[in-house]
Amino acid sequence: MEAPRLAHTMSSPTSPCEEVIKNLSLEAIQLCDRDGNKSQDSGIAEMEELPVPHNIKISNITCDSFKISWDMDSKSKDRITHYFIDLNKKENKNSNKFKHKTMSNRYWASGKDYSKVHLTQLLEKAEVIAGRMLKLSVFYRNQHKEYFDYIREHHGNAMQPSVKDNSGSHGSPISGKLEGIFFSCNTEFNTGKPPQDSPYGRYRFEIAAEKLFNPNTNLYFGDFYCMYTAYHYVILVIAPVGSPGDEFCKQRLPQLNIKDNKFLTCDEEDGVMVYHHAQDVILEVIYTDPVDLSLGTVAEITGHQLMSLSTANAKKDPSCKTCNISVGR
Ligand SMILES: [Zn+2]
Repeated sequence: MEAPRLAHTMSSPTSPCEEVIKNLSLEAIQLCDRDGNKSQDSGIAEMEELPVPHNIKISNITCDSFKISWDMDSKSKDRITHYFIDLNKKENKNSNKFKHKTMSNRYWASGKDYSKVHLTQLLEKAEVIAGRMLKLSVFYRNQHKEYFDYIREHHGNAMQPSVKDNSGSHGSPISGKLEGIFFSCNTEFNTGKPPQDSPYGRYRFEIAAEKLFNPNTNLYFGDFYCMYTAYHYVILVIAPVGSPGDEFCKQRLPQLNIKDNKFLTCDEEDGVMVYHHAQDVILEVIYTDPVDLSLGTVAEITGHQLMSLSTANAKKDPSCKTCNISVGR
């Protein structure tokens, strides 16, 4: 049987990109299916379940994109949901993987703030790729040691909400306006725990999920975006019922049912609060009230600092069809 040819376009997350791209080698592409099974590195053709990519070609290199194509056996092709491209593999640095799910096309949004209607469209697009739900038990926030020292010395031990930066969608009504504290909640599917790596600093504040998210808080959908890599981010806002943050969000953002939504849920089972998060998107949770450090613990992580995953003031990829909506045309 003749192997079909698949052409995939993906964007490089760094520039200058040619430096990175020329290091892309035959070993740099892995395939992955919905259950997280990976193919062998493409240089090793032993894996039976998933086909092995070969004849990899890079072309059309510009400063923010390149075209990558490869051949592969059509066997089991339908099971493939992710392509992992490891740009650092040949240099043998710390693993730095970018996964890509779809081909990109031109797709623009206008410069105006999104209305609730637009945000609901964005929400629906995010629901499509959110994936299955995994259990979580804590929210966490990584920072440098100096940040926590500063909070202890100058803010009476309480982390204070600050104005959200301009990362994410151009039309986001919360950028530069909403005040809150960013938390993560994703877990690793193999351990059920937060990853040991973080782009935001070696110290981690960890807090039991029920202290931030419970029936006394409202949950809102804030944004859905990616940044020239295939990781997709969903911003959610948790606001104590009736707080200033809650009032702000109620007017601007789609509200989610805390027990039943595709991203982050809180429900009671046998008198215990149980939490779940979507596996296939990175959730950025903004909590709108101050949080005292005494409600959780601060400890150093053992993993790496992955700068590539930082979203601070990052610009959204306007050409990604997965997370852009067409506005005002
Ligand atoms: Zn996207």
